[in-house]
Amino acid sequence: MEIEKELAEELHKYFCNQNHTDGCGWGYEGANEDKWERCAHKRYLDKAKKLLELSPEITKETIKNIGLVLRGY
Ligand SMILES: [Zn+2]
Repeated sequence: MEIEKELAEELHKYFCNQNHTDGCGWGYEGANEDKWERCAHKRYLDKAKKLLELSPEITKETIKNIGLVLRGY
């Protein structure tokens, strides 16, 4: 999987705080590659691309660690 998609998944996993019943459609956008064209996946893919422009060295571990620390783990 491309790095920007891996980062997008981590960003969503640790930073989406929307309601997953009717607020965020991530879980309803399917498992195929075309999910990246849909609303929630595209929103996080765009965020991941911006993050990579600002910090080309960023890894998904970094995103995960920030998410865990902010959550208090
Ligand atoms: Zn979500």
